[in-house]
Amino acid sequence: MEIIIGRQGTQKTPITDPTVSRKHCKVTDNGDGTFTIENLSSLGTKVDGVDIVRKTANINSILQLGPTFSASLGDLIGQGNSQPQISESSLNETKTFDISHLKEVWESFNNKNIQIANSQRQINLIRGLLGIFTMGAMPTIFFLGPIGYILTGIGVVGNFYSFVGMKNVETAEEKQCRQDEFDDKWICPNPDCGRSLIARNYRLLIRNYQSCPYCKCKYVEK
Ligand SMILES: [Zn+2]
Repeated sequence: MEIIIGRQGTQKTPITDPTVSRKHCKVTDNGDGTFTIENLSSLGTKVDGVDIVRKTANINSILQLGPTFSASLGDLIGQGNSQPQISESSLNETKTFDISHLKEVWESFNNKNIQIANSQRQINLIRGLLGIFTMGAMPTIFFLGPIGYILTGIGVVGNFYSFVGMKNVETAEEKQCRQDEFDDKWICPNPDCGRSLIARNYRLLIRNYQSCPYCKCKYVEK
């Protein structure tokens, strides 16, 4: 029997911790009371505190997945002395979850988007105005002499500074990183589910989804 442990794993106890990989490690039941653990994640897997690539473990071994998450193998795969926290009957009950924390998740992501769009527009506006100013200043060299040079100089220096300012604009990598961070938090609050929310923003979530289409848990705003 093989079990994949991770946020999208096949283990008994769901994992929603975003610091755990979708497929973090593989557990093979050797049938003799031992299990083989294989790391599948760039974030690393530890068995009883030791970094492993592939190691034999028992049901009471503690697995650390990534920097912070740890649990006993028995808890994760639902065997051994320690009982898994989720029983079959509780999965069928309709649970209710407060989703008000998602408002902050959405707002901080969205506010950053607005802020970046605004600063981008401001930079474009300043660059446009400086371009026009410089074009207008250059001909004044012929009839204003030194003053014309100064005006043109101001325009050129201004253009240079606005070009330097472009460095503060978010890079594609930073944007992707921010999006990933949001996606990891924008999930069903039911720890047994943890799937990505269908609604693209908080208002749609409140308006169109009073429950999770996957686990059927109810969403309320407290
Ligand atoms: Zn759900």
